[in-house]
Amino acid sequence: MGCFGNNKIKNITIAKLCSLLCRRREILKTSFFKSSWTPKYLLALLTTGLVILMVSISLHYIIETQKDRALMINISGKQRMLTKEIALKSLQIAVNRSNLVQEEMRQQLIAAIKELKSNHGNLILISDSELQDLYFGENSAVDANVRLYLDNATSFANIDFSDKERMDTKLSTTLLPNAEKLIKSLDRATYLLQLKSEEKIGYLKNVVLFSLLFCLFGLLLQGLYIFRPMIKTIEQERKSLLDLNKELVLQAATDGLTGVANRRYLNEYLDQECLRSQLAMQDLSVIMIDIDFFKAYNDAFGHLAGDDCLRKVAVKLKEKVNRPSDLVARYGGEEFAVVLPNTDIRGAEAVAESLRAGIEALAISHPSSSISAFVTISLGVTTSPGNVCPEANLIFGRADCALYKAKQNGRNRVEIYDEET
Ligand code: GH3
Ligand code: MG
Ligand code: MG
Repeated sequence: MGCFGNNKIKNITIAKLCSLLCRRREILKTSFFKSSWTPKYLLALLTTGLVILMVSISLHYIIETQKDRALMINISGKQRMLTKEIALKSLQIAVNRSNLVQEEMRQQLIAAIKELKSNHGNLILISDSELQDLYFGENSAVDANVRLYLDNATSFANIDFSDKERMDTKLSTTLLPNAEKLIKSLDRATYLLQLKSEEKIGYLKNVVLFSLLFCLFGLLLQGLYIFRPMIKTIEQERKSLLDLNKELVLQAATDGLTGVANRRYLNEYLDQECLRSQLAMQDLSVIMIDIDFFKAYNDAFGHLAGDDCLRKVAVKLKEKVNRPSDLVARYGGEEFAVVLPNTDIRGAEAVAESLRAGIEALAISHPSSSISAFVTISLGVTTSPGNVCPEANLIFGRADCALYKAKQNGRNRVEIYDEET
């Protein structure tokens, strides 16, 4: 609140205030969302979106290929089991003597052969060419072994089981050795599948790692070249807006001609100090000041010289009040008011006297004054004790009464408000 007491306020005009408002509007107009940041911001969003899409596609690909591999391993396991089952059923048929049981087993054998055949057919449906190669490629024996084994098993299932010799020959020369061959080729294919899977997983791990690094790098670039300068700009704009706001607030409380506080701020300040003084039980003094024969001064030197005189008086008044809480304000025309918080009547009278002497000491020539060769002021002082807090208008009224008395008593003097008179 002592801002008016420490020479911070410079002279400003209405035009300057307008230019400040315009600058503020300019800053708001060129603010972030209307600036060239928008395309950069959109680019950042777009690249983030692309990276997310890329990672999603990679993950989808990983899941899909792993699905095929799982299916392949599952079918291979079943084929192995069915190959053994067919060999076992054939052996059981060969050792069994009961026609009824043999017929029952023939049906089971035929069912197993069918399942083995259909499973093999399902493998062809798998789209992954690498996996296809393991079972149907030139270097793979699986497909040929499955076909051969299916032929052997079908032929065994269709022979006359009473021809024991033929059965045994088929079993020992073709079916059982081919079963072993098939199982071996299936095991080899599964092993190779496993190897390829591990290789693929290693490759996919690298894809994920690369995507992750790419994402991080992208985010780093965005942070460095888009978000960092963007935030910097926002911060700067915010700071200059805050500074401008502060300046505006200060200027809205300043008198344009003299640079001291204006009437609006004076009223606010006095209201606030009335309350504060009452709470703190402190005296509050107000001095009303009026330049003597100022009309005559204007008449003699012109209004511009009059304005200049007003400025000199204001500067001197400000110079003469000491405490940061003391406030010098232009009340209107050639009248000033000084608010002195926590100041009793004697202190206020001393300040008033020092103000009066200070203006006289300025020695501003005033030939039209009938009381002095220089510009002088008259002062009215009033003090409100801490336990009462009159309205600001009442305080001004009392100070004005005392001022009137000073004028009556010859001007260039200090008078104290007295309720009796
Ligand atoms: P008194 O000693 O009784 O106060 O006489 P006075 O002539 O000072 O009082 P009066 O109220 O008759 O005249 C005040 C004059 O102050 C009138 C006006 O020309 C002048 N004045 C008021 N505001 C301004 C201002 O902003 N600039 C200038 N140059 N003169 C002003
Ligand atoms: Mg006056
Ligand atoms: Mg006057």
